[in-house]
Amino acid sequence: YAGLVAIVGRPNVGKSTLLNKLVGQKVSITSKKPQTTRHRIVGIDTQENFQTVYVDTPGLHIEEKRAINRLMNKAAASSILDVEFVLFVVEGTRWHDDDQMVLNKLIAAKKPVILVVNKVDLYKDKAELLPHLQWLGSQLNFLDVVPLSAETGDNVTALRKVVQQQL
Ligand code: GDP
Ligand code: MG
Repeated sequence: YAGLVAIVGRPNVGKSTLLNKLVGQKVSITSKKPQTTRHRIVGIDTQENFQTVYVDTPGLHIEEKRAINRLMNKAAASSILDVEFVLFVVEGTRWHDDDQMVLNKLIAAKKPVILVVNKVDLYKDKAELLPHLQWLGSQLNFLDVVPLSAETGDNVTALRKVVQQQL
């Protein structure tokens, strides 16, 4: 059985890095520069008993003045429509207006959401993260909240298990 899962979030939170880690291949270009991912990129995680198709999306942008931003928003929004659920990627303790905008779109789309709190490697003191995690977790009835590091791979296996349970 193969499930379809979208990876969404504002630019630069680490969506493409996470996709590459999940599928064990560099299928999506990552960069410090926002807007590196301009199209939908699909990666397949094949395990013994299950297969997950992940769709990496361009980041969603509040700023819709530029045509390229409008196009990328459209691509991101349409890839949410036909998935079983969504991985909503945010950064450790940083919450931007863009994160809120993505969250509002997810609420409107009425899709089940797993919250992925990325870049936890940046926090030496994990206790620093807890109040933020609790606040984040209260913003929506998330299927689960998974803190991880897409870069180091820390806790990515836990995310894979959570995804498998939902499929
Ligand atoms: P996207 O725009 O959401 O697809 O973000 P990218 O995957 O392109 O990553 C944006 C930047 O964040 C890149 O410089 C990545 O190396 C960095 N990054 C991604 N994941 C992590 C992480 O877990 N820890 C740290 N420290 N940096 C990360
Ligand atoms: Mg990307």
